[in-house]
Amino acid sequence: MKDLDIQDKLPSLKIGEVEIFWLDGGKIRLDGGPMFGPVPKVLWSKKIEVGDDNCIAIDNSAMLLLTPTAKIIIDSGIGNKMTEKQQEHFHVQQPWRLLEDIKRLGLTIDDINFVIPTHADFDHAGGLTCNDNNGNPIPTFPKAQYIFQKKEWKVVKNPDRRSATSYWPENFAGLKEGDNLKIINGDLQLTPEVKIFLTGGHTIGHQGIEINSQGESAVHLGDLLPSQNHLNPLWVIAYDDYPMEVIAVKERLLPGYARRNTWILFYHDTEICAGRAQFAKDNQDVTLGATINKTKP
Ligand SMILES: [Zn+2]
Repeated sequence: MKDLDIQDKLPSLKIGEVEIFWLDGGKIRLDGGPMFGPVPKVLWSKKIEVGDDNCIAIDNSAMLLLTPTAKIIIDSGIGNKMTEKQQEHFHVQQPWRLLEDIKRLGLTIDDINFVIPTHADFDHAGGLTCNDNNGNPIPTFPKAQYIFQKKEWKVVKNPDRRSATSYWPENFAGLKEGDNLKIINGDLQLTPEVKIFLTGGHTIGHQGIEINSQGESAVHLGDLLPSQNHLNPLWVIAYDDYPMEVIAVKERLLPGYARRNTWILFYHDTEICAGRAQFAKDNQDVTLGATINKTKP
């Protein structure tokens, strides 16, 4: 049964017939420098609080989409399998509460039909699997199909040295192609409202998700647009494998979103869940109008 009082506390947004809920995928702190790549600290530190350790707060907001025909999870947070050393290294501030949040909505892990990781970094893929009673990782959502781009899965299976620091094999345990793993190559119209598309840029097989329903639209650009502070196409992060591609994709897509007032959904932002794209008053820069703010815990 749905507990409406509790459900109301999870931030949400309706795009036509699709309801989006933001789930708590864990909070970490990371060095602010790499999160803004080539941008000097004197500029980025005006936008976000920086600690004495140079770290900034990073949310990992998994999303649940309820469409008329499917229940879909986009990205999965840091998961609950990190060792103490890893938790210390990534300054975990708040544990992964994704399953509790799903329960708060009156759902169970069996209800989820699809899981769409934007890419395979641990902060997005950590919750794809959970340890069973014997401590062995198994898929968190037993009845779901997990959808990866072909190029991304190739790196998961055979990571280069840099990817290996963030693509942890335990996060993909039990995913089998043709069974619970669907490999796509480019676009996939998953439901009438939800389309997956290859973006590349942050990682070679990074994917984005567009939602269109009843004239309303939203887009999830994953780590190509991790927070509201990354709207400037040149504000890219040092973890991008192909930063010039990130810049090109943002330059290509953002004006269209501003024209249509598309909602931009954010995974790593600590203040807002989403913002409505629009053009700035006096130039063609893309900014945000209305926002959905995070509810304070
Ligand atoms: Zn990330």
